[in-house]
Amino acid sequence: MKQALIVANWKSNKVEKEVNDWFETFSAANIPDNVKVVVCPSFQLLSLSKSLALEKCSRVEIGAQDISQFDSGAHTGEVNTDQLQELASWIIVGHSERRSMGETEEILQKKVEMAKKNNLKVIYCVSEVSQNIPSQVDAVAYEPLFAIGSGTADTPENAQKTAKEIKEKNNLEIVLYGGSVKSGNVSSFLACDSIDGVLVGGASLDPVEFLRIVSNSS
Ligand code: PEP
Repeated sequence: MKQALIVANWKSNKVEKEVNDWFETFSAANIPDNVKVVVCPSFQLLSLSKSLALEKCSRVEIGAQDISQFDSGAHTGEVNTDQLQELASWIIVGHSERRSMGETEEILQKKVEMAKKNNLKVIYCVSEVSQNIPSQVDAVAYEPLFAIGSGTADTPENAQKTAKEIKEKNNLEIVLYGGSVKSGNVSSFLACDSIDGVLVGGASLDPVEFLRIVSNSS
């Protein structure tokens, strides 16, 4: 049976009480053996999320949504790889929402290097086959811009075709699909040969819906 990586990107959402409630509800999940779940909260919720995951959902791993391109030092507002290492095992790099704020491929390359320095696993986001992908990444998420947060997902046929091209061009083992994934469409993406998981934004905020996504992923 194929292994599936299901990643929740909470973006800039949730306060501590909501995180407690989310893990309380999600703890009812019976995560299938072939499914790995990674939850990516904002920086200030990482510590709480890690504790709650350990206590209530030991098979959930924690990821961060970004990382500094710099080492520790005089970089106000940045969170560096040494600081993240104790809190997260995964990092999302290159999300289109961060690229649109000016993150260039050069900056993204530095972020990947910083993450790998401390053995953090990188999920690198691209919206097109033509985008450059640093060689050290662990997984790539193909996220077409029109599908992110729009409620209109790509077709499984197109996502499969693009994921296959990305995989072959970059010699990658893990390619995820992201963009308006929900419980009703997740299995159609995971049924595709070249898609090894999904990156879920909006639908991951509701623990009941995310639970359904995970159950429909086996
Ligand atoms: C995302 O932002 O990575 C994403 C896939 O969002 P959504 O699921 O809300 O489209």
